[in-house]
Amino acid sequence: MKIDPTHIEIPRDEIDRIVKEHNCSPDEAIRAYIEAKQASEDAFGQTIQDILGHRGAGAGVPDIQILTPAQIKSHLDKYVIGQEDYKKRLSIAAAYHFAIVKAIKDGAADKVKINRFRKKNTITSGPSGSGKTYCAEILGDILEVPTLIIDATDYTEAGYVGKSSDDMIRELIQIAPGGGKMEKAEFIETNGGLIFIDEIDKKAKDGKLIGHDISREGFQRAVLKLIERKHISIEDPMSPASQIQDLMDQQRGISGKGKRKSTISTENILFVLGGSFQRTHDNLESLVKTRIEKGSGRFKEDGSITITGFVGGETRPVDPSQNYYREADAEDYIRFGLIPELVGRAPVRTYVNALSKNDLIRIMTETEDSIVEQYKFEFSLFGVDLSFSDDALEWVAEKAENKKTGARALISVFENVLTDFQFELPGRNFKSLKVTRDICEAPRDALLEMLEQSPVVDFIEKFKKNHGIELVIDEKVESRIREYARENGIQISTALSRLLFKASALNYMDIHGEFHITEEMVDNPKYFDDLYVKWHQDQLKDRNNK
Ligand code: ADP
Repeated sequence: MKIDPTHIEIPRDEIDRIVKEHNCSPDEAIRAYIEAKQASEDAFGQTIQDILGHRGAGAGVPDIQILTPAQIKSHLDKYVIGQEDYKKRLSIAAAYHFAIVKAIKDGAADKVKINRFRKKNTITSGPSGSGKTYCAEILGDILEVPTLIIDATDYTEAGYVGKSSDDMIRELIQIAPGGGKMEKAEFIETNGGLIFIDEIDKKAKDGKLIGHDISREGFQRAVLKLIERKHISIEDPMSPASQIQDLMDQQRGISGKGKRKSTISTENILFVLGGSFQRTHDNLESLVKTRIEKGSGRFKEDGSITITGFVGGETRPVDPSQNYYREADAEDYIRFGLIPELVGRAPVRTYVNALSKNDLIRIMTETEDSIVEQYKFEFSLFGVDLSFSDDALEWVAEKAENKKTGARALISVFENVLTDFQFELPGRNFKSLKVTRDICEAPRDALLEMLEQSPVVDFIEKFKKNHGIELVIDEKVESRIREYARENGIQISTALSRLLFKASALNYMDIHGEFHITEEMVDNPKYFDDLYVKWHQDQLKDRNNK
């Protein structure tokens, strides 16, 4: 169990004693106290486990189900638009990786033989905001394995200030199922895990920045070690908890076999490395393009590439909307600045495309958790039925496309259009909002216009509440009411009450559902009286006839 430091009782005299004994500050004493508590909690969990033994992989912890590549891909398809190559390769990599892990666990595979298998670690490149990370998130969900998504720029190689690469493994342990840290670590060792390292390109060596290159290469080497099945300490060796634990173990003379399990093997963790591989002065695409032009392939005037080196040469048309990430091979990644050993350990290479306007529209509308559905849901919480015209969605997609940040831009474009509506509409009886291209272009004007209609909407709502009849007031009638208000120098709400005061008579006439107000009804002050008289006479006639 993880101790929540905000809910732990810290006895004053205990802290005073630690301060005195260790000649430290109260802050340091409190931190050490919390860490030591955590360590003893873990040791407790471990002892219980040692006594009772394991039932399955992590007692009470669910087993990982094995899925086929096609099952994984069809799940990814529900959420991720386009990016076929990436989805397919990732599905294959994950399906085989976790099937092998399970086969070893079940004793159905010869570990020695299997150990020689090259893990399907993957490198993916392509423009920002086009689904690299998102796809890995969805993959983690369906696989139900602990999945950690991290940004390489937040980490350094071990020994430097900041989070070390080994911390990734410890963070993965934290999110694994199970009780204490040991059980969680064991779950990962047995069932595997997934780590997506985003922005790996920011750790690529860059000939232009000599000083930075050493630490960048250091980070890559550290990741390489993780990939190469290293044993990582479960506790941060620098943390007070593990130092206290080591001390306690030493004092008790525990070492070797008797020592509690303190490391985790990274063997069963699948790594996916992603990045846009774009720098201010060069990028992966231009490296690929140059290689193809100069080396084994040559562009022809019609835009196709002739790849030589194959028997007879192969001519492939180049789709100008496609990117050169597709053609990137190990050599290109190395030339960009990844170390060859790391590239070698990630044998699956794939790419994503820049999202087109059409992709963006599909992302907005077709995916299982689409942004349009999310906004609709939010508005519905305040009784507003939100919808978008096709041209509004096109407008949003065009704006987002221009921002060149992929699908990330969609949210900011939507927010610009919808923020004021989100603020103003709740609590004002508006039933619907249909967003059109005009509204997108001038949302404030559209909102002001709506707010002007607000008295009409309020009147309709109140009438419905009091009489159960839904008045329908079309634009023509509404402008008549406005005209009347203007001519008489009164508020629209007052004009409505005056002109439709007698409409309450409808209540007696056995009318249900919608009732359309016409211009005649507002122009003729006696309209509803006459209507009632006529209705009454008809009733009498009916009764007499019976
Ligand atoms: P990156 O390629 O930089 O890793 P992300 O995967 O983080 O980009 O994309 C940012 C967000 O944009 C995602 O969280 C997701 O909501 C949306 N998105 C991006 N690409 C796609 C896509 N192909 N299909 C559906 N949603 C996408």
